[in-house]
Amino acid sequence: MKSNTFQRKHGFQRPFHSLQIFSWFSCIYNNLTYTIFIIPEHSYPEIIILSVIYIILLFLLILLWYKVSRSDPTDPITILYKKESDQVILQDYEEKNERHCSICNCPVYKTSKHCMRCSRCTIGFDHHCKWVNNCIGVQNYKEFFAFIVVVQFIHILMTVDIAFIGTQMILNENSVVSGYKKAGEKFFYFEEALIMIALVLCTLATIFITKLVFFHVYISIKGITTYQYILSTMKNVEKEKDLDDLSENRLMKNDSMEKNKKCCGINNFNAPENSLNQTVVVKNSASV
Ligand SMILES: [Zn+2]
Ligand SMILES: [Zn+2]
Repeated sequence: MKSNTFQRKHGFQRPFHSLQIFSWFSCIYNNLTYTIFIIPEHSYPEIIILSVIYIILLFLLILLWYKVSRSDPTDPITILYKKESDQVILQDYEEKNERHCSICNCPVYKTSKHCMRCSRCTIGFDHHCKWVNNCIGVQNYKEFFAFIVVVQFIHILMTVDIAFIGTQMILNENSVVSGYKKAGEKFFYFEEALIMIALVLCTLATIFITKLVFFHVYISIKGITTYQYILSTMKNVEKEKDLDDLSENRLMKNDSMEKNKKCCGINNFNAPENSLNQTVVVKNSASV
């Protein structure tokens, strides 16, 4: 096995994903707007407490974002196989491991899955995160979960604070930074526009990230990965589709039986009532 095609090792490798670039700009914009315009609006000692909480969250956010983006969750067997250093070890892996990746053309761990975006097998594959442009697997899942929780906390803090302070600024027509009465109307409205854009971005991010955190709590309780959840959802959809097809076939059969009945003039024809009832039940359950 020797493949010379592109293989991603971490999220900082090019090509970058458009969502990844968007997240960088959005994060810089929101945090700058919050730091420059919102934090100074608070009075002492509130400003000290808020600043300490915000700096801790921001530090954790940058640290975890770097760790998740820079981590390499590649299946170690594929790395070893590429080096081809120890033929005995490789032979052992070939015999022991039941799974074989036809794209990497080597044995892999049972929990590994080939990611087409990264062109590599990821051990304990959960999903490929476009926001950090990296695979999330067993090796970086804990950091990823901690990262999204911190992202959620910092966005809740910024959303609530921007909404509260922004409303007060509009109502009082005053701001510590621009000072409506001092600097004039134009700069004040420009500042308000920047704050409103940050509020929209932070609100959308809070909704999205909260849903994501709850989803990961849910799958963690169930003891499954995102990939396994998607697979089970797809299987359920297929099952529902099969049941739907089955019920439609039964309905068609019933129609043709009714026609035969009328055509032949049989009054005590044993119509399959049960199957008609089943059809209704199946149809209802499939649409839920
Ligand atoms: Zn592979
Ligand atoms: Zn990937």
